[in-house]
Amino acid sequence: MAGENKEMKKGKKPSLAMQIFIALVLAILCGLALQGHSELVEHYIKPFGIIFLNLVKFIVVPVVLFSIMCGIISMQDIRKVGSIGLKTVVFYLCTTAFAVSIGLFFGTLFRRFFPIIATTDLSYEVKGGISLMDTIVNIFPSNFIQPMVEANMLQVIVMALILGFAIILVEEKNIRVVAAFNDFNDIFMKCMEMVLSLSPIGVFCLLCPVIAANGPKIIGSLATVLLAAYIGYIVHAVFVYSATVKVLGGLSPVKFFKGMMPAIMFAFSSASSVGTLPINMECTEKLGAKREIASFVLPLGATINMDGTAIYQGICAIFIASCYGIHLTLSQIITIILTATLASIGTAGVPGAGMIMLAMVLTSVGLPVDGIALVAGVDRIFDMGRTTVNITGDAACTMVVSHLEERKARKAKAAK
Ligand code: ASP
Repeated sequence: MAGENKEMKKGKKPSLAMQIFIALVLAILCGLALQGHSELVEHYIKPFGIIFLNLVKFIVVPVVLFSIMCGIISMQDIRKVGSIGLKTVVFYLCTTAFAVSIGLFFGTLFRRFFPIIATTDLSYEVKGGISLMDTIVNIFPSNFIQPMVEANMLQVIVMALILGFAIILVEEKNIRVVAAFNDFNDIFMKCMEMVLSLSPIGVFCLLCPVIAANGPKIIGSLATVLLAAYIGYIVHAVFVYSATVKVLGGLSPVKFFKGMMPAIMFAFSSASSVGTLPINMECTEKLGAKREIASFVLPLGATINMDGTAIYQGICAIFIASCYGIHLTLSQIITIILTATLASIGTAGVPGAGMIMLAMVLTSVGLPVDGIALVAGVDRIFDMGRTTVNITGDAACTMVVSHLEERKARKAKAAK
């Protein structure tokens, strides 16, 4: 009887997705109501959002390190890792190149509606802008501890790959280490679950200050640029991910987007792909992705796959060019597609990183970097949408690769 009561109580508790949704709506309403009370919001609400984000950041490095390592170890075969890695990278690069083309297309389509903002007294200091070659060099760590201390995710991934491969090669001699790593993986996954149960509070405390500080007025003169970006985000998510998930992943797009809702809402509120990683893992596993695949494909995607950022960069390039009265040539457009695709690899999955990488895209075609100042004020609004697309792309890839690998395994079994 007591058990039954407990069950009933449990049944009544809304799902995590519902809780996050309620938090999101409440954050928007409270944010609007608290406009003009920025001190109250900054002092009493924002700190809890920061605490939550700190907890997420605290857990992300060990989760990525151990999940990629254990994913590789569980595949037990370097060729299998290679095949999954290749599929993943091809999917990521193709969808990102497509995304930047969508951005350029909608940018061109909306160009005549874009405001022409005076550019004479603009100035934007590029902080931390790096070249393509620097990006490649920086992938490789020169120190064992530093990547973890600095949460440099690309370097953490390289460490996990090297360690994972090494363990496969010495596994027979070193079985106990494997068991220990799997135990660590389980422990960090549990920590992640604990942190995630706080996400409704985190979502509320992160979003409410953004709405209270900016409100509807922030959209102002850049409304058409934001509209173009959001149409680009939606078109890319609905068409590209629905098609790939359906055709290559054998999954109904409705089921996919429904299952992804908690991660989508979290990404929208936090504007961080890396922060959304734990919740994304949970969503894709619930949708049927194999754990070994999700734990390899998702951390990689949160670090190198940024379709939403690519759309944003395409649209901003057109907008900035139009403000300076510059018409982009075909070769400049092709250069933007290539650079934005590669820039997405170097974009960290944290708020605002895409805007810094925009400098690289603009420089590649000789557009003035100062133009970033035109969009910097509303970057957070762009960022919420682009992060949502970024993580949905990672999840779509996970479902596709998982399905393809399962099909391959079934075929191999049937052939025996
Ligand atoms: N905030 C984005 C992300 O975490 C990166 C960006 O700024 O474009 O995916």
